[in-house]
Amino acid sequence: MTHYPTVTTKLVILLGKPLGHSISPAMHNRVFEKLGMDYCYMPVEVTEKNLKKVFSGLSAMNVAGFNVTIPHKINIIEYLDELDPLAATIGAVNTICVKSGKTTGYNTDGEGFIRSLENEAQISVKGKRVLLLGCGGAARAIAMTLAFRDAEKIYLYNRTLAKAEGLSEEINCKTRPCSAVIASPESFRKAMETCDILINGTSIGMHPHEDLLPIDESLISQNLIVADIVYNPLMTKLLRTARDRGCSIVPGLGMLIYQGAAAFKLFTGVEPLVEEMSEVAHALMTSRH
Ligand code: NAP
Repeated sequence: MTHYPTVTTKLVILLGKPLGHSISPAMHNRVFEKLGMDYCYMPVEVTEKNLKKVFSGLSAMNVAGFNVTIPHKINIIEYLDELDPLAATIGAVNTICVKSGKTTGYNTDGEGFIRSLENEAQISVKGKRVLLLGCGGAARAIAMTLAFRDAEKIYLYNRTLAKAEGLSEEINCKTRPCSAVIASPESFRKAMETCDILINGTSIGMHPHEDLLPIDESLISQNLIVADIVYNPLMTKLLRTARDRGCSIVPGLGMLIYQGAAAFKLFTGVEPLVEEMSEVAHALMTSRH
């Protein structure tokens, strides 16, 4: 039977702008439908100026939660009743649960990345040495979550050095002293020799600049696990190069799928069908090219 929303339907709202290309509504609604759950996931584009009143109005409706994306992940925090400790440490929220009228913010971006890494490369990040390229919003969530999940060492490299220094200091103060900045080609080469996992957390290699590599390919050795958070294209030049050199690779779409899966569990208390989410995500991304 076709499902349509009624007055009892629980809503999950995606807030951001622009949202035209988001695959989250399709991923979540597919699982609601497959599990016969009376929920509906709806994208709502909202400007920064209107965020407060839109969020306040929607929170008063039959809403189970929100996903939040660019440009509101930081600004939304001031309107929340509570903040989960990891989200507070990251300083950004991508998931909000509404329970008994109270709003609590979470961040599942880093967790999504780590679940993807652990499932696809079959490793635990605990005790691992990681080299993370980039210090933007996504890399920041990943770095903090790696620290929370007991990675042994987190090396940060960023085009703008001051941002890497700031993030590294924050990690060391807010979690534990596990982070260091890479500031020279020599220390970069050494970190590449000793680390277990390389993560591209920059936008280098993203469509339409698909021919770009974030590092010199001669530094990629066979025993490295190479992850890319860029998911457009699905297989970046970095991942293709690493695969050709014999590395295990972890494509970026997994992070998007697993951050959604973690949010789904928070909204509903139900384990999502990750396979279904993955099928929808891959079908949508493939159809765009
Ligand atoms: P962001 O906040 O704008 O950060 C961009 C990062 O990339 C910064 O560290 C920036 O360095 C670096 N960068 C950009 N262009 C560069 C260049 N030409 N050379 C060297 N460094 C460069 O962006 P974001 O939100 O973190 O997103 C980054 C990428 O991750 C995007 O491709 C996005 O689509 C992807 N993403 C994926 C997921 C997922 O679920 N897989 C989730 C979120 C984002 P500076 O600090 O020096 O500017």
